[in-house]
Amino acid sequence: MSSENSVEALPDIKLPMEVFLDTSIHLARLRGDDWEAKVDGELAKFGFKGTGSYVKLEYGNQILTQAKYYLKELKRRGSLEKLADHINNNLIPTLSDHRRKSLWFFNLLRRHFNHPDDTERAVSSLRVLLHHGTAAVNDICDDVHDGGIGCNWATQDGPKWTNPYVSPGTKANCSLGQFFDEHRELFLKIKVAIDDLPDPPPKTRSRQSLESPWKTEQLSGFADLIGLACEDPTLLRKCKTCACLADAIIAVQSDGYKSMFTMDIGESTVLCRVLRQLHILLRNDLDAPIEYHDYRVPSP
Ligand SMILES: [Zn+2]
Repeated sequence: MSSENSVEALPDIKLPMEVFLDTSIHLARLRGDDWEAKVDGELAKFGFKGTGSYVKLEYGNQILTQAKYYLKELKRRGSLEKLADHINNNLIPTLSDHRRKSLWFFNLLRRHFNHPDDTERAVSSLRVLLHHGTAAVNDICDDVHDGGIGCNWATQDGPKWTNPYVSPGTKANCSLGQFFDEHRELFLKIKVAIDDLPDPPPKTRSRQSLESPWKTEQLSGFADLIGLACEDPTLLRKCKTCACLADAIIAVQSDGYKSMFTMDIGESTVLCRVLRQLHILLRNDLDAPIEYHDYRVPSP
C-alpha cells in the first residue's frame, strides 16, 4: 500500500555506492512485510551495505530481549489476547519499560491478531526471531564493521541462536578507551558540533527540526561524556558508560561510509553533518517517502 508512494531519489542527488544501516533500520524490518519491503527496496539501490558491531549489540539488546520476554509471557498467560491485556492494563504506563514493551508488542505481534490461530503464530514467529538471533543483522549486510572498538559487550559472540547482548553487566571490562583515543579527533568534532547547537526552546513539545537542530538531551550527554573521556579515557572501562555514547560510537564506526540510513532525526542530523554523509531518512510513516538530506559537502 505504500511502496508505490515512495519517491525515487531526486534527480540532483547522486546516491553513493555504499550505505550504513543504523539500529532503527534493522528494527524497522521487523515491523511487518510492508516495512521490510520498503527498507529492502531502498537497500537495493546500493552496491554495498554495511553496519556496525555496536548496531548488532543494540539489536540483540533491544529486540531479542523483548522477543524472549514475550515468548515467556505467552507461555505463562496462554494466549495472545491475555498477553495484550497484561501489557495494556497491568504494566505501569509511566515507566519507559512499559512504553518499550507496548511498542514492540505492537510491532512484533500485532500482525497475528484476528487470525484464528493467533497465539500459535505469535509463538512461532518469536521462535524464528530468536533462532535467527543477531545473524539477522549479518544477513542483510555485506559487512558488520567493528574497527577494533574493543567493547567487550559488543564484540562477544556466541552461537547464532543465543543473545550475548542482554545486559552490559557490571563487571564488563570495556576497552573502548583505546578506540576512543584512536578516533579522538572525530569524537571531538562531534562534541564541537553539539556544543555549537542552540539549546531546545523551553518546555517545547515540538520535534527536533532537520534544518535547525538543537541540542537534544542525548546529544548533550554525548558532548559531556566525550569531554570527560578526553580528560580520563579510563571512564569508558564500564560498558554501562560506553552505552551512553552508543549513537556516537555507531557514527564513528560508520566513518568512511557516504550515507547513513536511519529512522532517527534528533541525533543523526548532527552526526551525519559531522561525518559528511547523505542522511537517508525513513519516517515513522509507511506512506511517507524516504528522504535524502545531503551533508556530504559541508555547508558554507
Ligand atoms: Zn563497552
